[in-house]
Amino acid sequence: MEQNLFVYNTLTRKKEKFVPLAPPHVGMYVCGPTVYSDAHMGNCRTYISFDLIFRYLTHLGYKVRYVRNITDAGHLEGDAGDEGEDKISKKAKLAQLEPMEIVQKYTVGFHEVMQLLNTLPPSIEPTATGHIIEQIELVKLILEKGYAYEVNGSIYFDVEKYNQSKDYGLLNGRNLEDLMNNTRTLGGQDEKHGKLDFALWIKAKPEHLMKWPSPWSLGFPGWHLECSAMSNKYLGAQFDIHGGGIDLMPTHHTNEIAQNVAACGKIPANYWLHTNMLTVNGQKMSKSLGNSFLPHELFTGEHSILTRGYSPMTVRFFMLQAHYRSTLDFGNDAMEASEKGFKRLMNAYGLLKNLKASATTEVQIQPILDNCYAAMNDDFNSPVLIAELFEASRIVNSVYDKKLKIDQPNLDLLNTLMKVFIEDVLGLKNEQAANDDLPKILDLIVTLRNEAKTNKDYATSDKIRNGLQSIGFQLNDSKEGTNWSKM
Ligand code: AMP
Ligand code: ZN
Repeated sequence: MEQNLFVYNTLTRKKEKFVPLAPPHVGMYVCGPTVYSDAHMGNCRTYISFDLIFRYLTHLGYKVRYVRNITDAGHLEGDAGDEGEDKISKKAKLAQLEPMEIVQKYTVGFHEVMQLLNTLPPSIEPTATGHIIEQIELVKLILEKGYAYEVNGSIYFDVEKYNQSKDYGLLNGRNLEDLMNNTRTLGGQDEKHGKLDFALWIKAKPEHLMKWPSPWSLGFPGWHLECSAMSNKYLGAQFDIHGGGIDLMPTHHTNEIAQNVAACGKIPANYWLHTNMLTVNGQKMSKSLGNSFLPHELFTGEHSILTRGYSPMTVRFFMLQAHYRSTLDFGNDAMEASEKGFKRLMNAYGLLKNLKASATTEVQIQPILDNCYAAMNDDFNSPVLIAELFEASRIVNSVYDKKLKIDQPNLDLLNTLMKVFIEDVLGLKNEQAANDDLPKILDLIVTLRNEAKTNKDYATSDKIRNGLQSIGFQLNDSKEGTNWSKM
């Protein structure tokens, strides 16, 4: 299956034609959340971006195995150092809970938010704690190949040794000397031979909560290791796409590549895709900077800088109106504009089913459809796609207003175009309850009122009657039962 998709590959710093290793199969690994707190909107942006990519690849006919991990151990505070406390352990101690209670709570919350934002679940969602054995095996392999060393029960990756025959800065485009000169000395440095070396296995201090036996010590794996081990397990030594936020590229992904190359001799993924950051007043949204928004704060409007709330689909639309490799600044005005745009698009989509075809046509849909594919084939350019969908909406409105004629084949194509790109590719859905649902909802309310009456709970039954009356519905009680009518 030949496709004309081009993707921007951070590894080569250019747009390249996407050629999977074994079509129609595509393997995609995306670094998942660290479940020690609620995912913020910045995190959500990254997962919405990869959802768009997953959806489009699937639409093109690829059978995608999408692996997105859950980091439930090994991610230390301060990210780059090997000294800080494990983020989950720290939270567990503060809350006086088991680390796995923290993991469960935030994993469930993450899934709920992902569902609200209409992102599809990945094919596999492996956890770091579920793959300790695989990680220990990977450390053994790296040690065997001579790219790691042991100090007091901890194992470190030897970056300088690796760089003698390989290119450590392949992904971040920097040479070792430059990296050495620009790296701060971080905690946990004393045991390391070199400034850039990083931990593969860390001997646990006695107070550390999450630890496992290994040939070297009772300890825990380094954060970078889990992604190397799990991508290898589920997608093989070489697969198609590896993704994550651009902030993960300089260290986390650079170290992942080094680990996999050291162990298996291969760069794990052919295409490295990186999403750009959601910002607030130009600054990266991050928990540590204190400028992060939680999804429910955005949905309800309960946040000091928000004037009101926005629905999950408005938020998703807002995110998709920017290209995934551009930064996106969050603000009230931008949200208002997105809400208007989203309503305009969904209104037109709603009118579409009422359109009547004419014998002749004054409009051709095929060029717009071609433009939609061209936009998505150009590195998943969702803003250009959305502009094309607005053009399609304009046609829908003109035909509806009888200002434009469309014949049946073009109308069919317009239906296909809007269904495919709005629902399947952009993953947008109408949030208004369909009018068809209204009778069912009213029937349910009548049943509940009847139950209240049977229980002699006349206060509730009157409240329901009066409430419905105030919004324009009359309840009519008779011997046969109760029915409702619009006043
Ligand atoms: P974490 O849970 O911190 O490991 O982050 C999960 C994912 O969210 C990673 O891929 C990060 O790159 C991404 N991420 C973090 N902050 C932002 C942001 N402000 N905008 C977009 N993505 C982000
Ligand atoms: Zn990762």
